[in-house]
Amino acid sequence: MTQQDRLDKLAQRIIDEKVTPELAEAATQLVMGEGNAAADIVFIGEAPGATEDKLGRPFVGAAGKFLDEMLASIDLKREDVYITNIVKYRPPGNRDPLPDEIEAFKPFLMEQLDIIEPKLTIFLGRHAMNVFLPSLKISQAHGRAFRRDGRVYMPLFHPAAALYNGGMRDTLLEDFSGIPLVVQQLTTS
Ligand code: URA
Repeated sequence: MTQQDRLDKLAQRIIDEKVTPELAEAATQLVMGEGNAAADIVFIGEAPGATEDKLGRPFVGAAGKFLDEMLASIDLKREDVYITNIVKYRPPGNRDPLPDEIEAFKPFLMEQLDIIEPKLTIFLGRHAMNVFLPSLKISQAHGRAFRRDGRVYMPLFHPAAALYNGGMRDTLLEDFSGIPLVVQQLTTS
């Protein structure tokens, strides 16, 4: 079975096991994630928004356009990486995911990473970071790599936060520029 087949089976399990039934009921569809199922880099956002819910794809709205731009700035395309969210159904009205919704999806997110086995896992925003590195502050940790339990993580600010904030946009682009070197070091180490 390919890695993509295993991810497809995992998505079906989320549906069959009725994870967060209220969210599932309110959402149009599950947004599992997309990209290269054997990618070196996985990006984890918070939860799908309205456009993602409609199209069934992660980061395809305004924040996603900026993510595409940042990927291009380091010569990567969406197909080169894997992009997903902690919570895989859109929370109604785009509210933040609740702690119990994050908890419910956590085992599936861990399994997703076990299947892809990325060299580097990048958190887009503090919600994703808090699932793995709860003691860190994103204002201090952004752009830095952390090794925990055999995985390497890098927190970044959420691209949506940068849409109307030029300073944060520059910070995100600068943090992104450090990604290739981290991946290269992980490949040769
Ligand atoms: N914001 C997220 O955190 N995830 C998406 O998929 C889109 C916007």
